[in-house]
Amino acid sequence: MCGIVGYVGKQKAVSILLEGLKRLEYRGYDSAGVCVLQGGKLDVAKKAGRVANLVKEAATHRLNGTTGIGHTRWATHGGVTDANAHPHVSSDGKFALIHNGVIENYAQMKRFLLEKGYTFQSETDTEVLCNLIAYHYAKEPAGNHGTNRFLESVRKALGHVEGTYGIAVLCVDYPSELVAARKASPLILGVGDEEYIVASDASALVSRTQNVVYLKDGEIVHLTPKTFSITTLDQADVSPVVDRITWSVTDADKGDFAHFMEKEIFEQPVALENTMRGRFSEDGSTANFGGLNVTAAEFRQIDRFLFCACGTAWHACLVTEHLIERFARIPVEVDYASEFRYRNAPLHSNTLFFVISQSGETIDTLAALREAKRKGYKALAINNVVGSSLAREADGGIYQHVGPEIGVASTKAFTSQIMVGAMVALYLARMRDMSFSDGVEYVNALKGAPALVRQALAQAPKIREIAKRYAKYHDMLFLGRLSLFPLALEGALKLKEISYIHAEGYPAAEMKHGPIALISDKCPSVFFAPAGDIFPKIVSSMQEIKARKGPIIAIVTEGADLPPGLADEVITIPHCHEAVLPMVAAIPVQLLSYYIAVERGCDVDKPRNLAKSVTVE
Ligand code: GLU
Repeated sequence: MCGIVGYVGKQKAVSILLEGLKRLEYRGYDSAGVCVLQGGKLDVAKKAGRVANLVKEAATHRLNGTTGIGHTRWATHGGVTDANAHPHVSSDGKFALIHNGVIENYAQMKRFLLEKGYTFQSETDTEVLCNLIAYHYAKEPAGNHGTNRFLESVRKALGHVEGTYGIAVLCVDYPSELVAARKASPLILGVGDEEYIVASDASALVSRTQNVVYLKDGEIVHLTPKTFSITTLDQADVSPVVDRITWSVTDADKGDFAHFMEKEIFEQPVALENTMRGRFSEDGSTANFGGLNVTAAEFRQIDRFLFCACGTAWHACLVTEHLIERFARIPVEVDYASEFRYRNAPLHSNTLFFVISQSGETIDTLAALREAKRKGYKALAINNVVGSSLAREADGGIYQHVGPEIGVASTKAFTSQIMVGAMVALYLARMRDMSFSDGVEYVNALKGAPALVRQALAQAPKIREIAKRYAKYHDMLFLGRLSLFPLALEGALKLKEISYIHAEGYPAAEMKHGPIALISDKCPSVFFAPAGDIFPKIVSSMQEIKARKGPIIAIVTEGADLPPGLADEVITIPHCHEAVLPMVAAIPVQLLSYYIAVERGCDVDKPRNLAKSVTVE
């Protein structure tokens, strides 16, 4: 949450910062601001609301400097106001700071600084850190040989911080320098041609350079237009590793689509191909993963898996649980990362831990990973962002390779997580009881998934028409069974988060144990009703809803013949292998939520109160 960007170089900073903020806006959109260093002073433009408001505000300032910082906020401390917008300037006017994270001990530091005469313009925790840097700067002996007073003041101040931060700081006395640091909030450094950009993620800098350094927790980077150096909080030198981003700026553009979410829904066939690429064995009967760092022999010792995640990725864990238990016959437990980290769960000794997070920066998921490792368990990560904190801290893992996901509501990352889960299930199953020929059939089914997803996407015009009829409701139920129960949860979550319609997901048969009390002609139900053994049971649940005048949208597979007139709307998806069904079934609920939200005039890519990449607790 929250996007930060900083620039040092020869170009006018403000245009690069504003461009970066537009790309980072999905991370937070309560307010936005920039600060540029010019003529020995800090010029700040900031405004509550979207980056578009800031662009207008910035046009009224003369921002000509070549060193600057910019921020788009997801408020944690203090309301959504101009004053609370970042950058914050220290009360002596010497420092400007942007921050992603939470300074947990800000109240105590604020009391200290107030006593020392520092003043505050905002209610944020961030402004406290800014003044704390100023305080240490004032105390630091000027001209201390061999050290940079600006850098050392930031380092000293950070030494007192409890909490999380990704920060970038400017100092009037160092007109073309910038200091940035991170602890549990993401930050990368773009190494350009006589210019450097720090940013929360690569989308803000990839238009200028694809060479990046992934900064680690506890590192501080010091930039001048020609040099950069990285040290730790304890002043140890760090030898930087410059990596190359494999995607380009066009991957982070909407193209002809109305929203990123729409683009990402339609990208899913290609995304799934990219997730699978190069990951099947030569004999075509199992999956191969490069970076698991767990041998086949070690996997054979595993009696149990524990999957942890948050939100949509948690739903992907539930699908994976179903697939591993169904095909590999190994027990799987799924936990919310935010609960696991505190509940001190007793774990079976031969447990392998998996975490899933698109960004790899989700703070609760990172904490769950650390907790598992602290207890001595091996922990693997499934995530999309190369070089993320999760990827670095896990013992091994699997990248999703679906390119940047910018829509706040996850779509392509979700189906790709299910694809990875399905491949892990195959890999484990083939080590145990799955035969060669069943393995080949499974692999072929996965390879066919993109085409089936494409067929499901072809239903978009029909789903758009259905959405127009259902956009007026205030409540909806999503019902599914077995591997599609998590899809019911995901369908409900998608609808809630982007259209603000209250929705619940249940296993279809649970409906009669309580939720049926909600059913009336004012509460439609979306049913997953694939052909198969329990299809008649799902039809019975539908009859119970119909008897109570509940409108029904049925998502059926080919060959699942519903009694005529039972469902008000029928969306047909192709018949699929069990491992592929959840990916294909995701499409109609994603499209339905998307079109309903559009019909209701909602800001689909930036839903109320949300932001991508939840880096605060
Ligand atoms: N805690 C800071 C604030 O509320 C930063 C929040 C963020 O990460 O955007 O302003």
